[in-house]
Amino acid sequence: MTHRILILGGTTEARQLAGKLARRKDFSITLSLAGRTESPMAQGVPMRSGGFGGVQGLAAYLHREQVDLVIDATHPYAARISANAAEAARQTSVPIVALRRAGWEPVAGDRWTLVESVAEAAKALGTAPRRVLLAIGRQEAGAFETAPQHRYLIRSVDPIEPKLAVPDVVYLLARGPFPEADERALLEKYAIDTVVSKNSGGEATYGKIAAARALGIEVIMVRRPPLPDIASAETVDQLAAMVDHFLDPVAERGV
Ligand code: NAP
Repeated sequence: MTHRILILGGTTEARQLAGKLARRKDFSITLSLAGRTESPMAQGVPMRSGGFGGVQGLAAYLHREQVDLVIDATHPYAARISANAAEAARQTSVPIVALRRAGWEPVAGDRWTLVESVAEAAKALGTAPRRVLLAIGRQEAGAFETAPQHRYLIRSVDPIEPKLAVPDVVYLLARGPFPEADERALLEKYAIDTVVSKNSGGEATYGKIAAARALGIEVIMVRRPPLPDIASAETVDQLAAMVDHFLDPVAERGV
């Protein structure tokens, strides 16, 4: 019997998990991407791309495609799709489990200012001009138009369009991982005095946080949004080990 598994992706871990589960002959995997990135990395498993059309669209998809398990492996700041997935799974009685990497914790030497949103991060920069590395992705960069007095270095995977209506900005296109030594060199090259970051967790983008600590630079850290209360694992291996339980809980219990 083949089990159909829908992985909601857009993260490195989702791709790794898809690759790992695809090795199982009894699984049929589909990896779903939002379709925002212009040239997503080759994923090596069957893919679909683009929104489902809210909760109802996703519920209809789960029903139509006879999905046996949903794995929410989206980015921790992708709160809407996570909420939609939890609700669509509930409505269709399809099991769901989330892959949620742990957030970073501040350590001695870190100078973090915690804020609730990207808009609040823009305010937290204050009135005096700063030299800011924005590493929050492209979708919300526009929020910093409210603080045009700062000089920005904005790094994103895809180009930011339209360009920001601020006078002093450099755009950098790059895809992680970003090692600490490279991040430090970047912060020094542009004389950055403030990093704005999401608390993404994981190793791939931690380099800027470690480099900021080493240089005594402030990090304005946008807190994670609330996410649905569903079963979850922190790593690809942990989640892969849980999958059978969700697909066949009765057999797992040996009943
Ligand atoms: P979001 O605000 O939670 O989702 C917005 C809408 O995009 C959803 O309602 C859904 O449209 C669609 N969508 C999101 N993820 C999808 C997926 N994996 N497959 C199909 N449709 C999806 O999400 P977001 O913050 O825009 O993030 C979009 C994608 O980028 C996600 O896959 C996420 O994992 C990835 N990503 C996000 C961040 C971040 O900081 N937010 C960082 C790295 C990667 P419908 O309602 O029409 O279904």
